[in-house]
Amino acid sequence: MEAVLRYQIVIDVYRCNSCGSCVEICPEKFYMNENTDKAEVADNDWWDQALIEQAISICPVQCIELIVKD
Ligand code: SF4
Repeated sequence: MEAVLRYQIVIDVYRCNSCGSCVEICPEKFYMNENTDKAEVADNDWWDQALIEQAISICPVQCIELIVKD
């Protein structure tokens, strides 16, 4: 729960190429918006740092960022 409060995931949807890799790796946190065909972050408290970082690292255009909140 603490991680949810400390971190924020941001996707640059303009760079997202809709490959779906982040959703395959981490469907608990990422999903494809059917209208825009872009990845979005699920609004839930689920958090697995290792899986999320894996999804970030596999993104072919590196458009997912993990931001540390103040
Ligand atoms: S891995 Fe990156 S490019 Fe692929 S759907 Fe996710 S955010 Fe978009």
